[in-house]
Amino acid sequence: MTGNPISPTIPFDQDGIHHGFLCLPYSRDDSAWGSVMIPITVVQSGDGPTALLTGGNHGDEYEGPIALQELAATLKLEDIRGRVIIVPALNHPAFLAGSRTSPIDQGNLNRSFPGKPDGSATQKIAHFVDTVLIPMADIVLDFHSGGKTLDFVPFAAAHVLENKDHQAACVAAMQAFNAPYSATMLEIDSVGMLDTAVEQKGKVFVTTELGGGGTATARSIGIAKKGARNLLKHAGILSGELELNPSVTLDMPDGDCFVFCEHSGMIEPVIDLGDEIAEGDVIAQVWQTERSGVAPIEYRAKRSGILMARHFPGLVKMGDCLAVVAKVV
Ligand code: CA
Repeated sequence: MTGNPISPTIPFDQDGIHHGFLCLPYSRDDSAWGSVMIPITVVQSGDGPTALLTGGNHGDEYEGPIALQELAATLKLEDIRGRVIIVPALNHPAFLAGSRTSPIDQGNLNRSFPGKPDGSATQKIAHFVDTVLIPMADIVLDFHSGGKTLDFVPFAAAHVLENKDHQAACVAAMQAFNAPYSATMLEIDSVGMLDTAVEQKGKVFVTTELGGGGTATARSIGIAKKGARNLLKHAGILSGELELNPSVTLDMPDGDCFVFCEHSGMIEPVIDLGDEIAEGDVIAQVWQTERSGVAPIEYRAKRSGILMARHFPGLVKMGDCLAVVAKVV
């Protein structure tokens, strides 16, 4: 055994549709012998590949949880071959609080991998995913959006990997997800991410950023629902034809994609998500909040491309990610 205290209430190796929980013992003031109950659905029909589909890795991102709730409630046994493991809200305490990190331990699940079996609640979840869920999977889809502080053009992403066959398999799955944008993604810091944990095990991995601002839209939810089913079809688990629409290919060649804020103030976007921008052009201005009559600070693109991501709230702080510019391939 892995020494992890989390116990599933449903089997992972029996044909049928099973809805239950991952129980994480969490002794606290209002429940001495209580547990965190993370909803999970396992749908299995015969031999075949396993897909692990997760949302709510960050608790304030909703496309994944909505699409996965719908999938868990509607997936039919006769339509699949193999196994689908669905966890709509992986960091469930964060999801219930509507916050990026867990209110129990302030844990950011996507910076907690590979986790610890005897660590904090969030570290225990990470460790269970790392040692139990990921090893069962052939393909993993982890839904993200921007949360309360970022907003994105809707994209699915694969990472640059050392093993080019592995990368090609991830890119093919990302293309099957078929978001309006398909990105080769550069992470600011990949340490501790679920992404990295999956890729290090040689599994096919797709992530997304489908919107943001701490909410979801009808359009972004539609992209998520179609993407999950397309991915299952691509994996050979779900029957039926892929539903494919045009997708713009994006690349993030280097750190010049990111614009970080070196001031605090009120942000005035000069362009919107998806708009084209040339290197050196103004992306946004930051106005002082404490006095009038002062010119704003201009922030400029360090490369040409489209605005892929932006800071969402109206006020910005020093060190925040202000904008991301991606190259259109
Ligand atoms: Ca996220």
